[in-house]
Amino acid sequence: MTAPAWSLVVHGGSGVIDRADLKPEQDRAYRAVLAHATKAGADVLRAGGVALDAVEAAIRVLEDDPLFNAGRGAVFTAEGQVEMDAAIMDGATLEAGAVAGVTRVRNPISAARAVMERSQHVLMIGAGADAFAASEGLAPAEPGYFFVERRWRALEKQLAREGLPIPERPAGVLLDESHAALAHDEGKRGTVGVVARDIRGDVAAGTSTGGVTGKRWGRVGDSPLIGAGTYASNRSAAVSGTGEGEYFIRLGVARQICALVELKGLTLQAAVDTVIQDDLSALGGEGGVIAVTPDGQMAWSFNTTGMYRARIAEGGVLEVAIYKDEA
Ligand code: ASP
Repeated sequence: MTAPAWSLVVHGGSGVIDRADLKPEQDRAYRAVLAHATKAGADVLRAGGVALDAVEAAIRVLEDDPLFNAGRGAVFTAEGQVEMDAAIMDGATLEAGAVAGVTRVRNPISAARAVMERSQHVLMIGAGADAFAASEGLAPAEPGYFFVERRWRALEKQLAREGLPIPERPAGVLLDESHAALAHDEGKRGTVGVVARDIRGDVAAGTSTGGVTGKRWGRVGDSPLIGAGTYASNRSAAVSGTGEGEYFIRLGVARQICALVELKGLTLQAAVDTVIQDDLSALGGEGGVIAVTPDGQMAWSFNTTGMYRARIAEGGVLEVAIYKDEA
């Protein structure tokens, strides 16, 4: 069988997601955004665009939607702020860019791309990264843009559980109960990521997240760390992860999957299953990954009850899934 000319896989976070947790309209809302994001990426690839552009286009759709914990719907820190992390990597050149702890830029994935393409660095953090994004002309969010009521309530719950003080609500809050009703509370986590292979056979990966609810002390997760939550190489695969970032960092999950493909000759599905079902589970971590190879393999694996996910390849149909028992 010849490989499809292009392929794209999307995730919108993993966690405890059971059928009983989602009302039919919530289930539909998540699937609709996943389909929309996948289409945005697939349109780029179908038109002969590069994998990197497809990854950025699809992630921007997810960042702009308050249902997902990235961009607009980012979770709050214990201080009641958003501190977002993102990374993007080009498998053809091994160029990579990332930002951590950004608070103002509307689309952190585009800030990560600017770091990759328009700076000499790979990772920028905090106020410096925000200033760099602004200097590159990336749109800042207006006050209140990142306030999503459901995320605030999740923070209140989390802080109450930990016996920590509840911060003041931020000023300039936009109340949008319509989305609050559609959203599922996926607990502390939830992240977005996209991997793509273009018609040249180049792969790319990107990941964007608000991190975990109630995080403190400048905590940075795996998503912006090249090799942990995000990695791409034309010699092996493009990978994006979601889950308990601390475990992904300790295992070097994304790079490890690529190493199994490149050095041990594992199929992509065997490689993602080895790292997620065996290594991550053995360490006591939870999460999942999506991946593609330059020769057209697509895979996902997760050890949680669900992962928001979707995939499509040239000539194939769009698959959108949430729960473990779906394809
Ligand atoms: N991996 C993300 C982090 O630890 C969270 C998630 O994917 O749910 O920041």
